[in-house]
Amino acid sequence: MAFNIDLNLMNNQPPFTPDYPFGAAPAIGSVTEPVTGITWFRLPLPFALNHINCWIFGAANDCAIIDAGHYDEATKSIWQPQIARRKINQIVITHYHPDHLGCGEWLQSLTGAAAYMSREEHRIAAETRDMSDELEAQHRLKFFALHGLSGKALAEQQHFSFGYAMSVPHLPREPHWLVDGDTIPLGGADWRVLSGGGHSNDQTMLYESRRRILLAADQVLPSISPNISVWFDAPDADPLAEFFKSLARLRAEIPADALVLPSHGRPFYGLHGRIDQLVAHHQDRLELLLRLMTAPVTAAESLTPLFERELDDFQISFAMGEALAHLNHLVTLGLAERQELNGVMRFAKSSR
Ligand SMILES: [Zn+2]
Repeated sequence: MAFNIDLNLMNNQPPFTPDYPFGAAPAIGSVTEPVTGITWFRLPLPFALNHINCWIFGAANDCAIIDAGHYDEATKSIWQPQIARRKINQIVITHYHPDHLGCGEWLQSLTGAAAYMSREEHRIAAETRDMSDELEAQHRLKFFALHGLSGKALAEQQHFSFGYAMSVPHLPREPHWLVDGDTIPLGGADWRVLSGGGHSNDQTMLYESRRRILLAADQVLPSISPNISVWFDAPDADPLAEFFKSLARLRAEIPADALVLPSHGRPFYGLHGRIDQLVAHHQDRLELLLRLMTAPVTAAESLTPLFERELDDFQISFAMGEALAHLNHLVTLGLAERQELNGVMRFAKSSR
């Protein structure tokens, strides 16, 4: 499980400045309507990334909520007046991360709305909820030990938990499955479902072609690079390949002048430039890792060169996931190979 955390990874990037057409973001709790029929407001988050954008499509008696926010009292108190003054018929959850899904079932029970979600995201949410914090920490420790984390840094991993089941107390009931390519009416407009992997397995994005608006969720954010991580549940996965594939598709299918509504940061223009920048950033990290492989390296050994700063225990777990995503991708490309010796996995430049 890896929601977004600002690891400040974006260095050596090609120049690109998003065009923010709506000025400053609304303060947490206040509401704005940047585009007719699209209400934008921010909900607080209890971790370093301090907000998530939530959206209400439509007006008065036909509204759809896009993403529900983290499950806590602050978020609920912001939602209360918003749902009281409208008829919410639909709730769309873009992916399983707790800042998007947390209040989903709570909103559903108050509004009677139908829930919409990817079947795969619902499956991961259920699986993640079912694992106890203790078991999750055990798996995480074992996985990070295999990948070279040791001493205090490893021991400290025991001292926190993601607390997913607390952040997502219930899953939405009787969800309608969102499938790539479907078109669904939301708040009076037709939105096409686009699914993409990388940040999570099957994140939902939505595109409205008449007004050229892309709801990008966490897939394309204007100022931070979404977390792309390998986790112990799929140790050989290559989410970076999935992410590249999704970005290439967005660049090919969505026009350059589309307005992008991201889950963190502000709505912006410049989708293609931002995609190019994200791709270049990850290519740069891949090249840096290859240069490090004058001798075989562990994921833990790559953290300092990759992130160039001190990381706290919480950040280390995300950073390990990110490092492994890049290392696994080099293996897929045939540029690196895994070498396990005495219970420690190293990555070496491929001899093939
Ligand atoms: Zn996310």
